[in-house]
Amino acid sequence: MIKLYNTLTRKKETIKPLNDNLIGLYCCGPTVYWYAHLGNLRAYIFEDVLRRVLEYNGFSVKHVMNYTDVGHLTSDEDSGEDKMEKGAKREGKTAWEIAEFYIKAFENDARALNILEPTFKPRATENIEEQITLIKTLEEKGFTYKIADGIYFNTSKLKDYGKLARLDIEKLKAGARIEMVEGKKNPTDFALWKFSPANSKRQMEWESPWGLGFPGWHIECSAMSQKYLGEQFDIHCGGIDHIPTHHTNEIAQSEAAFGKIPARFWLHSEFLLIDGGKMAKSDENFLTVKTLIDKRFNPLAYRYLTLTAHYRSKLNFTWESLAAAQSALDSLYNFYLRLNENPPQTSLKGGIDSPPLGGVRGDLKNKLNEIKKQFLAALNDDLNTPEALAIVWKLIKDADISDADKKSALLDFDKVLGLGLEKIRKIEIPEEIKQLAKEREEARKNKDWAKADQLRKKIQESGWDIEDTPDGPKIVNR
Ligand code: AMP
Ligand code: ZN
Repeated sequence: MIKLYNTLTRKKETIKPLNDNLIGLYCCGPTVYWYAHLGNLRAYIFEDVLRRVLEYNGFSVKHVMNYTDVGHLTSDEDSGEDKMEKGAKREGKTAWEIAEFYIKAFENDARALNILEPTFKPRATENIEEQITLIKTLEEKGFTYKIADGIYFNTSKLKDYGKLARLDIEKLKAGARIEMVEGKKNPTDFALWKFSPANSKRQMEWESPWGLGFPGWHIECSAMSQKYLGEQFDIHCGGIDHIPTHHTNEIAQSEAAFGKIPARFWLHSEFLLIDGGKMAKSDENFLTVKTLIDKRFNPLAYRYLTLTAHYRSKLNFTWESLAAAQSALDSLYNFYLRLNENPPQTSLKGGIDSPPLGGVRGDLKNKLNEIKKQFLAALNDDLNTPEALAIVWKLIKDADISDADKKSALLDFDKVLGLGLEKIRKIEIPEEIKQLAKEREEARKNKDWAKADQLRKKIQESGWDIEDTPDGPKIVNR
């Protein structure tokens, strides 16, 4: 039984799939005009863990994540520049090239973080027809109106618009911004189709029954989730900033068109903070997977760090906390490798696979099963990953459970944690590299810096390096 916190009801609820054993999962994907920062990637790690937990429990998951490659404006008020065209100007490329480049960059980052590839990765620009069809349905049902800059959704036509975010519509009306798009009937109304400007040509634009233009940001997710998962599916995810506008408007569109809420569960992950503020693309504190690699961190140390916090809690990023996560991950790897080295045990502590040992064997088996149960219970309680990690360490430290049992339990747990245990191999440092490192240390002791540098260069040319740590020089594989 998996309980998940549903933003819609503000309660933890047990998930029961709409169709047999299959869970339809839709996750709002990145706007591909720039690199994803570590905050964005926290949201995708959370969604990956959710999917893995569902699969670990025996469900099949149809996981859809879109790429927003048109229509996301710099302001949520339906004004401002299209982020894709902004990216194109910044780099002197076309908006299409920008999309291609940053989709690849995102996929590389996702791979480095062991994020499983979604079942479908549709792009907004590849689903224009579907979006136009949905807008036509909304038009036929009387939910749209036309103003100078596009076709808008009339939110006052729905009796419970804003229920996801529990918006106070009257208060919103009173505080409506002056810069609201001219002609909008209600401050919460939003664009379904925006017209291309009369005096300039957009790079991304399409013909439609209403004229040349491009889709608004929210319609793409309603159209693509319906296309791949149907009018109603199980879970919809995103970061918490999607609650008041993007997801609220997706719900409005789908309810107006199909008469039902698109997803039964709405899950939202909290922000990654840096220096107490939200990590954002406009900030100087814009950290990416590349920043981690440049600073010689394993990207999976960042994955480990995010698992130490519950997805609904804010997580403050510091280099110290990342270093602690890297050191915990290294300990986990080293421990796992030592398990591989040890021959199967046949002693009293030999575990459940060794020859029968009567009552002792039964107790050990119970102990191991108890730990496995606790691990599953933690994850099935709204993805409590900090608790799941604590249970991993409890297993490691247990003196009674055999190495063979620990190894198979760790590999099993890693199906959810995704820390890459199955790929980890012991790296043997060649004797000649060890010798060069020794000579370099000797040269440094004799203050022969030129020789020390020369030796280090030789080591680097062979694909290795030396890191001078507080505990002395350490040979590392590059
Ligand atoms: P975007 O590419 O801007 O559409 O954002 C992609 C995802 O990252 C969305 O689900 C956002 O909610 C999420 N997000 C943006 N900033 C942060 C942050 N600082 N911490 C965590 N998630 C974030
Ligand atoms: Zn979306």
